[in-house]
Amino acid sequence: MIIVMSSQAKEEDINRVISKVTGLGLKIHLSEGKFRTIIGVIGDKKLIAGLPVEVMPGVEKVVSVTESYKLVSRDFKHENSVVDVDGVLIGGERLVIMAGPCAVESREQLLESAFAVKKGGAQFLRGGAYKPRTSPYSFQGLEEKGLEMLAEAREATGLKIVTEVVDVQSVEVVREYADVLQIGARNMQNFQLLKAAGKAGKPVLLKRGLAATINEWLNAAEYIMNEGNYNVIFCERGIRTFEDYTRNTLDLSAVAALKLISHLPVIVDPSHGTGRWQLVCPMARAAIATGADGLMIEVHPNPAEALSDGQQSLTPENFMKLTSEVAAIAVPMGRKLL
Ligand code: PEP
Ligand code: MN
Repeated sequence: MIIVMSSQAKEEDINRVISKVTGLGLKIHLSEGKFRTIIGVIGDKKLIAGLPVEVMPGVEKVVSVTESYKLVSRDFKHENSVVDVDGVLIGGERLVIMAGPCAVESREQLLESAFAVKKGGAQFLRGGAYKPRTSPYSFQGLEEKGLEMLAEAREATGLKIVTEVVDVQSVEVVREYADVLQIGARNMQNFQLLKAAGKAGKPVLLKRGLAATINEWLNAAEYIMNEGNYNVIFCERGIRTFEDYTRNTLDLSAVAALKLISHLPVIVDPSHGTGRWQLVCPMARAAIATGADGLMIEVHPNPAEALSDGQQSLTPENFMKLTSEVAAIAVPMGRKLL
């Protein structure tokens, strides 16, 4: 249930409603918008149904929510959410670009990538220190050593760091180094990990599962928000279909759908979404034209030598080309890149 307070509601009206709800043992989530406060009520459905709040002073209306998610919904918060990562805003007028190698391979490779993506206009350096690989014989990542290299690259460039956390045990160490915790496609429904990330006190980039519906994805975000962490960013990265020319099928309609349903920012990863570097730039342009708030792009100083995902990684030169093309598409969308 969502309680929409009137724009004239006084603080004491809001507090009275909150005490009524919490007094019954129900949990609340507050959304204090520019014009009105919205109170999300969570708990036993029977108790909620009997709540006599509709007639309380300052209450405009009560909306019963039939979906299994609430906090991610635009019913709960009408305005777009902007996630503030120490001054870099995700979901505002300026588009956000997260770029870098698939995996942190060495200090030199990472620093070279970091300076290249910074030059191209990225605000975030990406790079996996823990890699969820299909084969156990593939490069698995440098783990904490890789995190240290990411932190060094942040010092050297001023870029923010987004990196993947693959299990509950490593949340603690990853949160020490990362500015944004990435939850990968293979872990989108790892509910224990979602809860741990929700408690970690850092913004979370939630990638779409390989075979997840939009509804399942929204519910995954709800798990994080239900822990009190409202700084969640969706990342569409393609889903499995019968098509095998591309690695995945990049579902840009999901971006438009999420913008309708949710207030949270949405970015797009055309690198994993296509699996082919030649398709990354066209799909990046399309993503911004669809209304995405930013992009995640794999960039490697020498894709032919990459230890993972070289075939979908852009050279620094091609990344520069991508950002200049994306900057042009941003203008008619009322957005800007740099
Ligand atoms: C990644 O971005 O490093 C990654 C592994 O992507 P995904 O989880 O989308 O496959
Ligand atoms: Mn990759």
